[in-house]
Amino acid sequence: MATIRFQAIQATLNRKPITVNEPNARRSELYATNVFTSSTAMHYMPKEAYSAVVAAINHGQQIDRKIADQVASGMKSWAISKGATHYTHWFQPLTGATAEKHDAFFEPVADGVAIDKFDGGQLVQQEPDASSFPSGGIRNTFEARGYTAWDPTSPAFVMGTTLCIPTVFVSYTGEALDHKTPLLRALQSMDAAATDVARYFDKNINKVICTLGWEQEYFLIDTALAASRPDLMLSGRILLGHAAAKGQQLEDHYFGSIPDRALAFMRELEIECIQLGIPVKTRHNEVAPNQFELAPIFEEANLAVDHNSLLMDVMSKVGARHNFMVLLHEKPFAGINGSGKHNNWSLCTDTGVNLLSPGKTPKNNLMFLTFFINTIKAVYEYADLLRASIASANNDHRLGANEAPPAIISVFLGQQLSAVLDELERVSDGSLSPEEKTELKLNVVGKIPEILLDNTDRNRTSPFAFTGNKFEFRAVGSSANCAKPMMVLNTIVSQQLREFKAEVDALVEKKSMKKDDAIFNVLREYIKSSKKIRFEGDGYSEDWVQEAKKRGLNNFTTTPEALKAQISKKSIQLFADHGVMNKIEIVARYEIELEEYIKKVQIEGRVLGDIATNHVVPTAIAYQNTLIQNVQGMKDIFGSDYLTYAGQQLEHVKAISNHINAIKTNVDAMIEERKKANKIEHADKKADAYCNKVKPYFETIRYHSDKLELMVDDELWPLTKYRELLFTR
Ligand code: ADP
Ligand code: MG
Repeated sequence: MATIRFQAIQATLNRKPITVNEPNARRSELYATNVFTSSTAMHYMPKEAYSAVVAAINHGQQIDRKIADQVASGMKSWAISKGATHYTHWFQPLTGATAEKHDAFFEPVADGVAIDKFDGGQLVQQEPDASSFPSGGIRNTFEARGYTAWDPTSPAFVMGTTLCIPTVFVSYTGEALDHKTPLLRALQSMDAAATDVARYFDKNINKVICTLGWEQEYFLIDTALAASRPDLMLSGRILLGHAAAKGQQLEDHYFGSIPDRALAFMRELEIECIQLGIPVKTRHNEVAPNQFELAPIFEEANLAVDHNSLLMDVMSKVGARHNFMVLLHEKPFAGINGSGKHNNWSLCTDTGVNLLSPGKTPKNNLMFLTFFINTIKAVYEYADLLRASIASANNDHRLGANEAPPAIISVFLGQQLSAVLDELERVSDGSLSPEEKTELKLNVVGKIPEILLDNTDRNRTSPFAFTGNKFEFRAVGSSANCAKPMMVLNTIVSQQLREFKAEVDALVEKKSMKKDDAIFNVLREYIKSSKKIRFEGDGYSEDWVQEAKKRGLNNFTTTPEALKAQISKKSIQLFADHGVMNKIEIVARYEIELEEYIKKVQIEGRVLGDIATNHVVPTAIAYQNTLIQNVQGMKDIFGSDYLTYAGQQLEHVKAISNHINAIKTNVDAMIEERKKANKIEHADKKADAYCNKVKPYFETIRYHSDKLELMVDDELWPLTKYRELLFTR
C-alpha cells in the first residue's frame, strides 16, 4: 500500500495555519532591534572606539587591538542584554550555506567562579577547522589552517541566543575560501574606478558604493508531502512524476490572495527579518502554484549579500516551524516555472546620486549615459564570465526553460534608450561643433528623464535588463549566493570604467580635445562595438537562439561548459589586475564548483536509480500481476473467446513490461556510465562525463516511469504526485 503518500496528503489536509506570536510593537519599531547598528554601538562603547569603527566602515581603516577590545566589550554587553549566551564568527564558505561555530561567553576563572568573556582577539580573528570546508586544493598546497576575520562593514547581530559576527574566511596564506572576500575586493575596485569617472562630472564625489536589491523566489511544500518524496529530500527537486492536468496555465496563482498557511509563515519570517535588519518590503504569489517571492529594499551590496544569505537560513528555520519545506532549488518541478533571484544592481555616490538614474540636467545625464554605456560594454566584453557567474547544476534546468532567461547573455535597454544610443552613435568623430553639442545636450541627453519616467518598458525575457534606474540581472538562480554574480559584475564594470578613463584622458591630453567631446567620442565607439549584445526581442524564443548564433554570442547551456570562462587567460588577468582573486584562488574555485556539480548530478543519479528500481518497478509489477490474474480469470470464464474481454488488459501487461525493461536497461546503463565517470581523475573531464554521459539517462528513465504512473492503479502508486505536491493545502 502506498501509505506514506496517503498519510502525507492526510497530514497536509489536517494542517491549520500556525498562529504567530507577533511582538507587541510596530514593524518600524522592531527594525534592526537584533542588530548592533552604529546608533546602538554609540551607546555601548567609548567615543574613540565608535569613531574607529565608523572610519573602518567608511574608509576601510584598520582597527587596533586596544580599540577592538573596547568594541568587543560593548558588543558583548549589548548581546547579553539581548539574551545571547554564545558568539560565533558567521561566514559564507563555498559550500553554498552559511557556517557558524558557537562559543560560550562563559569562562571559569577560579574555583567555582566564572565570568562572561569576549575580547578584541575573539572579535577580530578565529581559527575554525578549515579542513571540512571546500578549498579546491589550496589546503593541500599550503596549510590546513584557515581563519575568519571580522568584517566591520556588516554589523553583528543576535540570532536566537547567539551573537553572530560577519567575517571573511581565508586560508592561512591569505587565499579567499569564501564568497565575501572576493566580493569585498571587487567592491573596492569598483569604488576606485567609478569615483574616478564620476569626478569628471562632479568633483564633490569621493566614494561610490554598489547597491543590490535581490528578489527571492521560492516554493513552499508541506513537510509531510516533501518527506514522501525521496528525490525532493535528497536532491531538492522532483526527478520523476507526470505533470498534473492543471499546472500554471490558468495563471490563477500569480498575485492572487496568499493562502493562509503561507501568509502565517511569511508574517513570522518578515518579523524575524526586520529584527535582523533585513528591510523586507514586498511579498506576493509567483506564477507557479505554491511559488512565492520576497523582496527587500535595496542596500549596499556587501550587506545585501549577507542579508540574502541570512534570509535563506532564516527561511528554512521558520518554514520548519510552519511545517513547510522551503524549496530554494532553481527548478524543483519540470514543466512548471523555476525560481530565480533577480539581482537589481546600481551604483550610488556619497553625494546620494544613483549613477544609473537619469538626472535633472544634461550634465547629470551625460554622467548617467557614461555609466550606462560602460555597463553595456562591460557585459559585451565579459558576457561569458557573467554567464559563468550564474552557472550551477540547478540553474541549468531553469535557464532557457520556457519561463526563464536563456543561457545567452544579452542586454535589454528599452526602445527609448536604444533610440538615444542610436543618436549618440552619429556623433562626429573628433571635436564637436558648438551646434552639434547644443543639439545633443538639448535634444538627446537633455530629454532622457521625461522619456524614462514615462516609458520604462519591461522585457521579462532578458537576462540583463535596464529597468529605469538600475540593471536587473535576472538569470541568477534562487539558491545562489549573490556574492558571485555581484563580484563578477562589479569587477567587469570596474575594468571597463578604468579603460574608459584611460581613453578619455588620452584624447584630452594627446589630441587636446575638450573633456565632453572626448567622452562623447569614446561613448560613440563603445556603442558601436558593443551592439551585438543588445537585444530587445523575445529572449525565450527559438529565433533568438538562432539570431544569437549568427551574432557570435555564446549559448553555454551546461555548467561544465559555462564555467570554463572563469579560467580563461582573460579572466585570470582581469581578476589579478583588480586584486580580486589570484590564479590560485581562481583555479581553486573552478575545481570546487566542478566538484559541486559532479556531486549534485551523482546524487540525482543515485536517487533516481533507487526510486526507479525500488519504488516504481515493484509497483508496476504488483499492478501487472493483478492484470495477469484478471486475464487468467477471463480465460477461465470465457475460454478461447477471452481476448474479446481481456484484450486491453493484456496490452497493458505488455506495455508495462516494455516500460519496466526500458527502466531496467537505462538504469543499468546509467550506473555503468557513473562507474566510468568516477574513475576520471580531472574534475573538468569528470564533470563533462556526468553532464554528457550520465545525465542524459535521467530523461529517458523519467519518461518510462511517468508513463507507468499514468497506467498503474492510483491506489498503488507510492510517490506523491505532482497534483498533490502542488495543490494540496
Ligand atoms: P520589479 O522588478 O519586481 O518590478 P522594482 O523594480 O520596484 O520591482 O524593484 C525591484 C527591486 O529593485 C527591489 O528590491 C528594489 O529594492 C530594487 N531596487 C530599486 N532601486 C534600486 C537601486 N538603485 N539599486 C539596486 N536595487 C534597486
Ligand atoms: Mg524584478
